[in-house]
Amino acid sequence: MSIPRWLMISSLCGLSVLGGWPFAMAQPEPAADLDAERRAAQMQQLLSRIPERMRSDFLPEAPETKHLPLYASLDTPPETAPEARCGYMTCLPLVPLQDDVYYTVTEKNNTVAQQAARWGVPSNVIIALNDNLTLESVLKPGQKLLVEARMASAPVPYSSGKANRGRLRDGRLMPEGKGYYLRDLRPHSWGTDTTIQSLMTAFDAYAKAYPDGPPINVGDISRRRGGRFGPHKSHQSGRDVDIGFVHFLPPNEPIPQHFTRASESNLDVEKTWVFLEALIRTGNVQMVFVDVSVQKLLRAHARDKLTPEQLDAIFSWPHSKSSSSALLRHWPGHKNHFHVRFKCPPNQLGCRS
Ligand SMILES: [Zn+2]
Repeated sequence: MSIPRWLMISSLCGLSVLGGWPFAMAQPEPAADLDAERRAAQMQQLLSRIPERMRSDFLPEAPETKHLPLYASLDTPPETAPEARCGYMTCLPLVPLQDDVYYTVTEKNNTVAQQAARWGVPSNVIIALNDNLTLESVLKPGQKLLVEARMASAPVPYSSGKANRGRLRDGRLMPEGKGYYLRDLRPHSWGTDTTIQSLMTAFDAYAKAYPDGPPINVGDISRRRGGRFGPHKSHQSGRDVDIGFVHFLPPNEPIPQHFTRASESNLDVEKTWVFLEALIRTGNVQMVFVDVSVQKLLRAHARDKLTPEQLDAIFSWPHSKSSSSALLRHWPGHKNHFHVRFKCPPNQLGCRS
């Protein structure tokens, strides 16, 4: 099959670029970018393997106008006062985003198809991005596979609508990294740049504070193109993330695949606070839903470190359980994890806070 050159170029960014061909077309091809040429060849191989009926998944999404007119007339959300932006603390510089994302093969599955299903990435994409790989390849636990290769010219992920009724276009995949782990089953790990970069920044700060500390459990973010997925009502637009707490766990315990309910005796308040503080200091958190019982433990720990003004900006308790302008708010069902909602990315007028 002969692949048009424009399609090859627009496909270089892996999954996420395919929605943005007009942008990719406008980019001049690098003169001697061997890496890009290799990816182009891999993507050509990929497209030749995709059955006709599946090809629409890999072709450009409808142009931008499909999303914008709905909300373009609305104003952007009001800016939070700069001094309150990072919880009245110094804002952290954000760590750089990664264009290449590798995932580590886990013990439970040893084929490309099994891993692809657990990661929410089509098998053909994984095969195309990794040399000497076929559907029949036997994978070794610990082996790292390239699952996303995004060009710098790829469109920025776009969040449209509300978190409980929205979409994500050209979503960015959460990479693996220090200080946290993505569960073996991670098909919903796509977010906006604001979401992914803020998470990476907070986990980086946590990992630097506690190089030997337990990694934090990262749950669902959004599907690659957003939209509804159970059991969540939100998580639809790349801005919501479920994150576990840091617990005192028995040594040599396997890494939990589920969240652990917090109690006064098992919650490592100090480490959980360090992570939460770093998250707030990204300046990109809109709100955090968590049970009031966890708020009480964290607030008691932070009382000596923060001013009353800072405490009230961060914790809704004791003034109110849930209805508040504070970042942390009570919501039933959140005794074992934070539900973090990040702000809309800058200049995305279709995104609704
Ligand atoms: Zn959630």
